[in-house]
Amino acid sequence: MAVRNAEQDPEIEAQLREQLATLEGRLARITAHQMNTDREVSHDWPDRAIEVQNDEVVEALLPRTRVEIAAIRHALSRIAAGEALTCESCGKRIPSKRLAIIPETRHCASCAA
Ligand SMILES: [Zn+2]
Repeated sequence: MAVRNAEQDPEIEAQLREQLATLEGRLARITAHQMNTDREVSHDWPDRAIEVQNDEVVEALLPRTRVEIAAIRHALSRIAAGEALTCESCGKRIPSKRLAIIPETRHCASCAA
């Protein structure tokens, strides 16, 4: 059984889970969008142009969403292991205030700057 880190704000874990759910929903919508456009390609040029443009916007979101999901899973696994969320650059504890704003962050404010 993992030792809970008493100093870790329990709110952070709840926020991370909420954010993960949001991002996974977005990822599912992006994937659905891509599958949908593969099936239904318009033959009219104006429509096709709009679809292509949308695809580019949607595709730009995909890597970012994946990176954010990975960061949140990483943070959650550290919490599950009872580890404090510390800065990966300087090793100092990331303040709860910062985690409340950016739960998936891996760095303290001074290292991220
Ligand atoms: Zn740092």
